[in-house]
Amino acid sequence: MKISILGAGAMGCMTAGFLVKCHDVTLVDIWKEHIDAINKNGLRIRFQGEETLVYPKATIDPNDAKDADLVIVFVKSIQTALALEKNSVLLGAGTLVLSLQNGYGNDQDIMKFVPRNNIIMGTTDRAASVLGPGFVNNSGGRYIHIGPLGEDMSGAEKTAAAFRECGLDTDVYDNRRVTEMIWDKLIINCANNALAALLDINTPRLLEEHLSDSFKILLHEAVNVARAYGLPFEESVYVEKNTVLLKSLSKEARTSMWQDVNKKRRTEIDRMNGAIVRMGREKGIPAPCSEFVVHLIHAMENKYV
Ligand code: NAD
Repeated sequence: MKISILGAGAMGCMTAGFLVKCHDVTLVDIWKEHIDAINKNGLRIRFQGEETLVYPKATIDPNDAKDADLVIVFVKSIQTALALEKNSVLLGAGTLVLSLQNGYGNDQDIMKFVPRNNIIMGTTDRAASVLGPGFVNNSGGRYIHIGPLGEDMSGAEKTAAAFRECGLDTDVYDNRRVTEMIWDKLIINCANNALAALLDINTPRLLEEHLSDSFKILLHEAVNVARAYGLPFEESVYVEKNTVLLKSLSKEARTSMWQDVNKKRRTEIDRMNGAIVRMGREKGIPAPCSEFVVHLIHAMENKYV
C-alpha cells in the first residue's frame, strides 16, 4: 500500500516504524532538520530502552508523496485543516484518509478536503514522544480502533488489514461505536490534560486532594455535554475509569498538554475543553469550569517568549 503520513512527529514516526515493514511509506512534515536527519541517517525509534533504525521515505515536499492509497493525518488537531490545505496534492480520487488524532472536530476539518466515504476515524492508546531530529520514543500501547465516518466499512477493513500485517493490532467498528470511542478519549483528556499542564505536575498526581475534585468537575461538564449529543455516558463510570487510569500510571507520565506547554508549543485546548464549551453552548449546557481552564491555558500560551 502507498501510505503518506502527514505530520512526522511522535505518532507519525512511531506508526511509520511499523508500517514501513510492509508498505511504501512517506513521511511529510515541515520540520526540515528532522526530515533531513531521517533521510541521512534513517529514523531511530527507541522502545523500552532498545533502539531500532528504519528507513521510511521522508520529505518536506508533498509532491514526493502524492496520490497515496492512504493518508494518515498525524499533525496536532489545531493544524489539521491548514495541513490538508497545504498538502492537498497527497490526495488522489480514491485516497483514504485516516485520523487517529486527539480532540474534537478533526472529521469536520478533513471533510472539507475529502469525501465522507473516504474518511476513517479512530483512536489509540499507543503513545510516543519526539527525542530529537530523526529520533522518537515508542512509549507502547495496545490498541488501534478505527471505523468509517460514513457507512461503508471497506476502507476501514482494508486499512486495518494493512496495519495488522505490520504488527499493529487494529480493530474495526461501525461509525456509531467509533464516535463513542473518540468522545470517550476526549472526556478523559478534558479531565486531565489541562489541569496537569496548569499545575506542572505528573499525571497521577491528579489523584491528590483538591485535584481529584477538580478533575471530577471537568468530567461532570464534559459528560453532561456528551449526553446532550446522545452519547450514553454516565458520570460515575468516568470518575471510576479515570481514577483507575491515574492509579495505573507511573510517576514519569505527563499529559500531552503538559508536554506542549513545556516545549512552549500551542496546545490542543480548543479541541478539548474548548470543544466542550462550544458544543455545550449549542445545546444550552453550561461548562464554566471548562471555559475557565481554556482561558488559563491560553494565558499560559501567551506567556511563551
Ligand atoms: P507532534 O507535535 O509530535 O507531531 C506533529 C507534527 O506535525 C510535527 O512534526 C509538525 O512539524 C507537523 N506539522 C505541523 N504542521 C504541518 C503541516 N502543515 N504539514 C506537515 N506537517 C506539519 O504531535 P504528536 O504527539 O505526534 O500528536 C499528533 C496527534 O496525535 C495529536 O492530535 C495528538 O493529540 C495525538 N496523539 C498523540 C499521542 C502521543 O503520545 N504523542 C498519543 C495519541 C494521540
